[in-house]
Amino acid sequence: MDYRPLLNASKLPDVKTTIFTSVGNLAREHNAIDLSQGFPNFEADEELKSLVTKAMHEGHNQYAPMQGYYGLREQISEKIESLHNRRYHPEKEITITVGATEAIFTAITTFVGKGDEVMVIKPAYDCYEPAIIVNGGKPIYVQLDAPDYKMDWTAFQGKITDKTKMVIINTPHNPSGMILSKWDMEQLEAILKPTNIILLSDEVYEHIIFDKQTHESASRFTDLAKRSFICASFGKTFHVTGWKVGYCVAPAALMAEFRKVHQFAVFCVDHPVQHALATYLKHPSHYLELINFYQEKRDFFLNGIKSSKFKFKPTQGTYFQLLDYSLISMEEDEIIGKRLITQNSLASIPISSFNVNNRNDYMLRFCFAKKQETLEQAIEILCSL
Ligand code: PMP
Ligand code: GLN
Repeated sequence: MDYRPLLNASKLPDVKTTIFTSVGNLAREHNAIDLSQGFPNFEADEELKSLVTKAMHEGHNQYAPMQGYYGLREQISEKIESLHNRRYHPEKEITITVGATEAIFTAITTFVGKGDEVMVIKPAYDCYEPAIIVNGGKPIYVQLDAPDYKMDWTAFQGKITDKTKMVIINTPHNPSGMILSKWDMEQLEAILKPTNIILLSDEVYEHIIFDKQTHESASRFTDLAKRSFICASFGKTFHVTGWKVGYCVAPAALMAEFRKVHQFAVFCVDHPVQHALATYLKHPSHYLELINFYQEKRDFFLNGIKSSKFKFKPTQGTYFQLLDYSLISMEEDEIIGKRLITQNSLASIPISSFNVNNRNDYMLRFCFAKKQETLEQAIEILCSL
């Protein structure tokens, strides 16, 4: 059969397989040390894993409630209240999702329609734009500049129109590691205050933030919280990216709309895992200790490469570090990234794929959520270049 007439109806004709999949495949083919896709190569806590087994043995093996297991929603509510001093009601304002990805897709699908504009700050994680486009919306970009990728609120405000339906922010930011300060969030709050724009705040790295800085969640700002969907990921926080469990919080009226889509997209999420997470979250140390844990890894990695030819600014949050390779080569990051895999056996992510028009910033992104020996091997390669 000639499929071309059918494919003309594609809603995403320009979308290719993600950079994480293509780089990951190449890394495996060349048996490279893989610092590309963001996932830990060490095990999650045995206690958390045995809590899942326990939940299975206790019989939590059928569908979970559509909104998520209530006990987990209660724990999330308490966590947010203790960290950010805002109460989200577990019954009406919190939904457990299939990772942050489903939360993001659902929030966009719930509100973005044909002709709506959605502000996307570039470089941007790759799941926002396809979700906007598949729903008929139009991404409007604010491109930030290397090496700091500092937020430009004047450029941002200049792009808001009466068609702007939603704004997407991500702090701590993947891939740059930049974080939005209290001042940044106040600028955003002032800009959005006279509008009906919805805020989608991707906070999956909420617990990975360095140098004694504070995560300025949208939930801390009254006028932002009123208009926000805040998305988070247990995969990132508890070293279990493969479990794909996350959550979304929003004021009750917005959350009611969100659930209309969520219930028909996935209905509900892995049940025994939700029970395990509810018990595990009772100990705040399980997420609070991430700061020191990852700061040690970041500092070890950066100390190891300080005599290399790479230039860098220590990442402020996330488990990603950008390295500027311009003293080594002025080639495109995709070419350098590929060569690093095929000739030097080290995989990273070229960040041009997150920029407008694939702009080359001479930057590669390295994930340092890795075992000590993996980081040591990566350091040796980076110092040899
Ligand atoms: N947002 C950002 C910025 C991410 O880096 C990721 C990758 N984990 C996600 C969302 C998706 O999270 P999850 O794996 O929980 O779907
Ligand atoms: N969030 C991960 C990263 O930025 C990728 C997850 C995925 O492959 N979709 O590396």
